[in-house]
Amino acid sequence: MKNIIFLAPPLAGKGTFSDYLEKNFGYYHLSTGSILREKAVDNEKLKKILESGELVTDEIILPLVEEVLKNRDKTKPFILDGFPRTLQQAKKLDIILSGLGVLDVVVVSIDVKKETLIDRVIGRKVCNKCYRSYNSNILAFKPKVSDVCDFCGSKLITRDDDNLESFQIRYKTYLESTSPIIAYYKEKGCLKVIHNDELDQTEALNILRGVISEH
Ligand code: AMP
Repeated sequence: MKNIIFLAPPLAGKGTFSDYLEKNFGYYHLSTGSILREKAVDNEKLKKILESGELVTDEIILPLVEEVLKNRDKTKPFILDGFPRTLQQAKKLDIILSGLGVLDVVVVSIDVKKETLIDRVIGRKVCNKCYRSYNSNILAFKPKVSDVCDFCGSKLITRDDDNLESFQIRYKTYLESTSPIIAYYKEKGCLKVIHNDELDQTEALNILRGVISEH
């Protein structure tokens, strides 16, 4: 099974796809956003940056990514969700991965229209323990019991950055900083694009299954 790097605007579904791959194919999920949110619990400065929707500096993120990749469960293929977000991070990641001897990587860009993303930001809630995503306004993504995680039974909360103001900043940052990485990976020949506008994600997941098992 190939290792995966997800590139996607906020709310595109990288968390949902990652859960699916973790549950069904035993992937090891590394979400830089989740790791940073955990660190922000007792770090007011970091909390403010995350709330704003701006990127944290490379001084913070690079050592963190290097450490989690080094210490990951190496018996499993990994998903990198949220990194890289800039061309500089992508180039640094090449160095980290080659240093760790990781060669088999596919980059999956999840493409979703901005209007769909805005619909999703309204009503999204995430589990405060296992970080799975739900949406009380979208039938297919409602939790079975209101505000309770179907998977682990913990409380669902609204992320501090899940509001329209922060979304606009995160989306703009994505367009400006992350889109150039798509061209970089396209050039390297390891990029796949999956469209994920539909509520029914069966087709997107079929394509994803094909991508991870391609030779
Ligand atoms: P996410 O959960 O992937 O939407 O990330 C939430 C927030 O964490 C982002 O808005 C950034 O502030 C921060 N973050 C996550 N990954 C990175 C990264 N690779 N570089 C800089 N900031 C990041």
